[in-house]
Amino acid sequence: MAEETIFSKIIRQEIPTPLLYQDDLVTAFRDISPKAPIHILIIPNKLIATTNDVVEDDELTLGRMITVAKKLAFEEGISDDGYRLIMNCNSHGGQEVYHIHMHLLGGKRLGPMLSV
Ligand code: AMP
Repeated sequence: MAEETIFSKIIRQEIPTPLLYQDDLVTAFRDISPKAPIHILIIPNKLIATTNDVVEDDELTLGRMITVAKKLAFEEGISDDGYRLIMNCNSHGGQEVYHIHMHLLGGKRLGPMLSV
């Protein structure tokens, strides 16, 4: 059983972070340390530690994460210019918080996808 992270407390609003979106499956809020003018995290309400832990039953939730990303990109006015969706996994992927999340980044022309 994965250990809860700060994201579970944000979902339950035990840490009162302003939410941009929440439904029965996913929650979205602004990244505390933005790497672009728009930097939003979209996370499943269910604790899934890494993308390695995803199972078939999660497919609806994972799809919802993308439709919510699309909706928020539109609301933030970055749909037409474009944006980037990123999910990091484990240490080589640069994952810091072990509750999967999709980064929605935009608001300027982003740099190369990877700096290795
Ligand atoms: P990752 O490296 O993909 O695990 O990304 C974790 C992200 O969570 C980082 O971009 C952090 O800035 C962000 N983060 C960590 N704690 C918080 C928090 N309390 N509220 C919002 N974003 C957070």
